[in-house]
Amino acid sequence: MAEDVLSHIVFLLTEKGQRQYGLHDVTQLQHALQSAWLAEQDGADPPLIAAALLHDIGHMTHALGENPAAAGVDDRHEQVGHAFLARWFGPEVTEPVRLHVAAKRYLCAVEPDYFSRLSPDSVLSLKLQGGPMTASEVAAFRALPQAEAAVRLRRYDEAAKVKDLQTPPPEKFMTYVAACLLTQ
Ligand code: FE
Repeated sequence: MAEDVLSHIVFLLTEKGQRQYGLHDVTQLQHALQSAWLAEQDGADPPLIAAALLHDIGHMTHALGENPAAAGVDDRHEQVGHAFLARWFGPEVTEPVRLHVAAKRYLCAVEPDYFSRLSPDSVLSLKLQGGPMTASEVAAFRALPQAEAAVRLRRYDEAAKVKDLQTPPPEKFMTYVAACLLTQ
């Protein structure tokens, strides 16, 4: 059972992950590996490293093509990914995944220069996702138990778009994923 889940995740990352990541010169798999590697280098705990690796798994389970935002479609990949992962992982893994888009809307509201550093496709998807948070949304977001983890994940996400960066292989980060499985 646990073996099946882990091999299915590796399949999604390595096969579906060959799609390009938005408008960037990295694949979904490279983006996932760079995110997890940044989390590990930042001293994140295993659930946050697992969340970093899996944060865009919702892009890999849907059939909306490579860049739905370009077609004006919000794929709601954070919800899809959360629903997929919640079958096997607890909130320390699933909540940062669910909230990583909200974290972008949050950072756009609270950090004056954050928006200016967003990549063009992040700006496009931000519009579809509701734009920067309002003051009451900011307060509600801050009150969530995993808000801080989601913001950390968001920063790994933004930085994980480096062309040709060599990272450790998926197996390395899957050890963190395995350690977070609810049913061992
Ligand atoms: Fe991402």
